[in-house]
Amino acid sequence: MAIHQESLIWQLRLGAHLNKKKVISDFPKSFYKGKKVFVRVDFNVPIDIETESIREDYRIRRALPTIDFLIDAGAKVILGSHLGRPNGKVVKELSLEIVSRRLSDLIDKEVMFVKDFIGNNLASKLDDLPNGSVVMLENLRFHKEETLNDESFSSSLSDLAEIYVNEAFGTSHRAHSSTYGMAKSFVDKISGFLVDKELSFVSKMMEKPEHPFLVIIGGSKIKDKISALGNLLESADKIIVGGGAAYTFLKANGINIGNSIYEEEMLDWVRDVYSRYKEKIILPIDHVISRSFDRKSQCLISDIEIPDDYMALDIGPKTIELFNSIVKGPGYIFWNGPMGVFEFEQYSSGTIHVARAVALATWRGATSVVGGGETIAAIRKAEVLESEISHMSTGGGALLEYLGGSNLPGIEILD
Ligand code: AMP
Repeated sequence: MAIHQESLIWQLRLGAHLNKKKVISDFPKSFYKGKKVFVRVDFNVPIDIETESIREDYRIRRALPTIDFLIDAGAKVILGSHLGRPNGKVVKELSLEIVSRRLSDLIDKEVMFVKDFIGNNLASKLDDLPNGSVVMLENLRFHKEETLNDESFSSSLSDLAEIYVNEAFGTSHRAHSSTYGMAKSFVDKISGFLVDKELSFVSKMMEKPEHPFLVIIGGSKIKDKISALGNLLESADKIIVGGGAAYTFLKANGINIGNSIYEEEMLDWVRDVYSRYKEKIILPIDHVISRSFDRKSQCLISDIEIPDDYMALDIGPKTIELFNSIVKGPGYIFWNGPMGVFEFEQYSSGTIHVARAVALATWRGATSVVGGGETIAAIRKAEVLESEISHMSTGGGALLEYLGGSNLPGIEILD
């Protein structure tokens, strides 16, 4: 489909898509008093099994305002989440018990961890808990019915509570029992503060971003990002393409990319986009290259043309300078995807520089939205503080689908 047609359809869907959802603070605290509130959180955090510790608790901390609000209101808070992909089996390493302990530390309150929450009369036990109690259920995906959106599993979950809150933006693109199926049975299905914040930043970006509006796309694949990118091309003033995503663009422009990754099936789309928007699109002009893809490989700097047998694994110094001169602020900046294989030290410089440039632009008044697990990891590597970015989105896939114009079932179902 031609890009302008896609864009038109998207614009038409935008009205329905961005309807404001009810947020927990739309009700007075007295509304929650003594009520059992199921909160679907996204506590899918990286865990170090050997040390039994959580490597990154950002997703837990982001849900705290909602949890605190409900505790303060005197609700009985029941938290449900998934962790990893246990595929319907009990996998010890993917238990949420460690997470419930961390949460207990963070809120300075006991968190009751419930392993067996189906068919053991849990709902009536919850009734006996004092107001303000917090309960964490075991990994919902230990039950295969969760991802199948099984009706009876959904109703077992909804039987546990009287109010449903979605605080898991990152899984809202999945119509699972806990994100969609169970929500249908509730009269009150409300968004938490984090989901509300995610929606308001994304809506702003889609409807009326401040200008100059800068989009920075990186990572390994364009394919996952085309709908989002397609929709932002019109409103963006500049689009920086780095990382593996840049090499499909460079190849389409007839540049020799050696063995760098690119997506053959995306070449036509990229040519079409480039012919329409070439004034806006900024591509790398030099690269850090190597013959092999490994942590210790020897690397060189190449000009825009990459020699045969070499692959580009990071943007080069001139490109860093070029990108730095564009990522200045103020305005609106959306960044998704690293500029190189930042997991390897020798290919992390481009991503680190962009992260710092985005933070600096935010200091200068830009609104910055950073999405995707890899990009957030890169922000940490660059030692950029959370407070130096306006919004770090916890939902990579969900964010891109939403920006691409898809309706997210977990959001659509809310009041
Ligand atoms: P994505 O999930 O599409 O955002 O891709 C993230 C991954 O892209 C990271 O793990 C990076 O290592 C990888 N990546 C970034 N630049 C390159 C590159 N030039 N070649 C290969 N992989 C890359």
